[in-house]
Amino acid sequence: MHDVVIAGAGPVGLLLACELGLAGCDVLVLEKEPETGTPWKALPLGMRGLSAASVEVFLRRGMLRPLLSASGAHSYGSGDTEAQVAPAPRSVSHFAGMMLNPADIDADALPYRLPSPVLEGVMTSLEAVETVLAGRAAEVGVEIRRGRQVTGLRQDAEGVLVQAGEDEYAARWLVGCDGGRSTVRGLAGFEFTGTQPLFTGYTMLATVADPDKLKPGFTLTPTGMYLQMPTPGHIGMLDCDGGTFDRSQQPPLEHLQTVLRRVSGTDVTLRDVQFVSTFTDRAMQTTSYRQGRVLLAGDAAHIHSPLGAQGLNTGIGDAINLGWKLAATVHGYAHDGLLDSYTHERHPIGAHILDWTRAQSAVMKPDPHAQASQALVRDLLGTRDGTTYVYSRTSGASHRYDLGSTHPLVGRNAPEFRFTDGTWLSDFTQDGRGIALDLTTDQRLAGATAGREDLIRHVSKPAMNELGCGALLVRPDGVIAWADGLDPDHAGFELAAARWFGTAVV
Ligand SMILES: Cc1cc2nc3c(=O)[nH]c(=O)nc-3n(C[C@H](O)[C@H](O)[C@H](O)COP(=O)(O)OP(=O)(O)OC[C@H]3O[C@@H](n4cnc5c(N)ncnc54)[C@H](O)[C@@H]3O)c2cc1C
Repeated sequence: MHDVVIAGAGPVGLLLACELGLAGCDVLVLEKEPETGTPWKALPLGMRGLSAASVEVFLRRGMLRPLLSASGAHSYGSGDTEAQVAPAPRSVSHFAGMMLNPADIDADALPYRLPSPVLEGVMTSLEAVETVLAGRAAEVGVEIRRGRQVTGLRQDAEGVLVQAGEDEYAARWLVGCDGGRSTVRGLAGFEFTGTQPLFTGYTMLATVADPDKLKPGFTLTPTGMYLQMPTPGHIGMLDCDGGTFDRSQQPPLEHLQTVLRRVSGTDVTLRDVQFVSTFTDRAMQTTSYRQGRVLLAGDAAHIHSPLGAQGLNTGIGDAINLGWKLAATVHGYAHDGLLDSYTHERHPIGAHILDWTRAQSAVMKPDPHAQASQALVRDLLGTRDGTTYVYSRTSGASHRYDLGSTHPLVGRNAPEFRFTDGTWLSDFTQDGRGIALDLTTDQRLAGATAGREDLIRHVSKPAMNELGCGALLVRPDGVIAWADGLDPDHAGFELAAARWFGTAVV
């Protein structure tokens, strides 16, 4: 029996597999597609923007360099450590096609972030992300079986029997990372609720007879939006048709040209279309991310429009949050409630993302109320505060889990501390253990991890900027679980260690 079967070798399933493999679990990934390569994952169609929070995940597991290299991004910085690699080019977000001006982002106003190479995002491709993650998964002993489509499941108190065609696989846990049309979600009976679409979206690679009739980048119009990417013929468009286009059919060239002309307000001509796919802004989320021994992550748990580039980033956040919790459960030392904290922490983030995309759809509608709201948002984006606010939402800098502490650092992603000896926090996070981080000169946490080093690593170093805290407990997913702040009482550390690292440390 496998510890965990994962349905889907997309980016979320692969990252989860890496985390579980790193923690010593027996993991099998079942992927329905027989082959890896598809034009939808390679550039230009597979282009994806990773937020600063997602880049940090790759940095902290030693996968940023390989990702940058696979993405064709030129890295700079002369150091040997992961953190000294600065991502390029810069990925900056937008709100409903209204671009943020990077110069207007006030980095000092981002809550509890430290200057680091990962304050910025990275433009990459699904192909690059999956290649790096599949490589790492193999290194940590994960088996990926391709051409295996999950078609059925049966669960009881002991485990799950997963069916893929004629084959059956026994596992203690099943995680559905099988995308927006998740089979696992339906088979396990998850409740999936949300809102219906306002638009139909198209992304295509076409030959445009007169591309100069279209503006470069995002252009918002009274009937929707179009996007002309730098690669010739790579075009996106959003048509505010109430999501009525029948997406079961491949849109013919005439339809695409009609929509592009209507949305762009030009008489542009499409000569032919090589690839096209459609999407909508339907926004749905499961009410829980767990049904017994079946869990969901990524698009399987939440779907929404790609506006603002959040789907993959949210899925990466799901996987890094779930991995260590499920591993602790598999290994038998997790306290009751640890696994359910996955839903408690990630569901509100997913709900926020759905609302973020709904807000963008709302200001794009072709009616006077929406157009007035759009003008208001544009004005706000023209301010430093407005730009910084939107950036703090899309970069992940504003994310904070409610872990029941009023300490302003607890629940946030740990800042990328740089220590006085030149090392960085991410130099100590590669093996997936938690970290008892002691920034004090009086060795406040000395001995606190004795006998539990397999789960919590003690790092005692003065930092160049300690944000006013002396000691921290950082979870394997990089989230601060405890910070001593003004209170030098160590009992808080013990309680937090027991809460997050379970019976193994009490
Ligand atoms: C045009 C466009 C642009 C986007 N841009 C961005 C962006 O810039 N930034 C961002 O964060 N997000 C972006 N997204 C969203 C992002 O691509 C998705 O959120 C992300 O790919 C979800 O990853 P996933 O692993 O959850 O699902 P998927 O990538 O859908 O992977 C699911 C995997 O499961 C497999 N599978 C499906 N069913 C089964 C089954 N029954 N059994 C076994 N395997 C199965 C599939 O073959 C697939 O390999 C964009 C989306 C679109 C459409």
